[in-house]
Amino acid sequence: MSAKKLIAANWKMNGSRALVEAVVQQLTNLSPEVDVLLCPPATLLPLFPASQHYALGAQNVSEHEQGAYTGELDVTLITETGATYVLVGHSERRQYHGESDQLICLKLQQAVNGGLTPVLCIGETLTERQQENTEQVIAKQLAAVYASHPELLAKSVVAYEPVWAIGTGESATPEQAQAAHAFIRQQLAQYDAAGAAKVRILYGGSVNATNCSALFAQPDINGALVGGASLKPSEFMQICQSAK
Ligand code: PGA
Repeated sequence: MSAKKLIAANWKMNGSRALVEAVVQQLTNLSPEVDVLLCPPATLLPLFPASQHYALGAQNVSEHEQGAYTGELDVTLITETGATYVLVGHSERRQYHGESDQLICLKLQQAVNGGLTPVLCIGETLTERQQENTEQVIAKQLAAVYASHPELLAKSVVAYEPVWAIGTGESATPEQAQAAHAFIRQQLAQYDAAGAAKVRILYGGSVNATNCSALFAQPDINGALVGGASLKPSEFMQICQSAK
């Protein structure tokens, strides 16, 4: 596994030119001991100057190549903005846009074939956790991609985001997150043992400057996917600094 942690910002449908400038300004002081990925809305991507302090990512990608797909962005359009990563299968895409495991698998293939690094987002809902189905849900989401395409694992980042923790202020405890991450790594090992040992598994769901250090201390947590707190430049910077 890369020794460096990866801290990813998911701005969702938020942001502005002013926020781009403020975040770029903050990150000029970033230590090189942590990798940072910024995923603003795609329209803001070209406003970020190229920098050794961060990589850029889109929040979604079409499963198609360029053509008559109004409103969609394919891998080549994303690449032209300077982005090198893409979030795939975020729970908000699964929930509000009906993205199935099968569609997510196609998007991941498009991303990798087009040279983007996908961040595959998985995680259980509150009901699924209460019914003690967390492991079953996660295993199914992983199998939908890597059972048929194990070669994609070495090119992927995985983000564990329990749906009940997203935007709620109620993060998973470090122990809950570590247990899920260890399970994810163990599941992935059946598809590609070497890839599973190396893949970065990010935790996401109400990560903030206060709870991040305890999460980062867990052996299978290799970084974070940060939503709300990534919109506050100084707090996001603090989270990045805690990941050294
Ligand atoms: P949150 O969002 O940090 O606001 O909970 C995380 C995410 O949805 O990626």
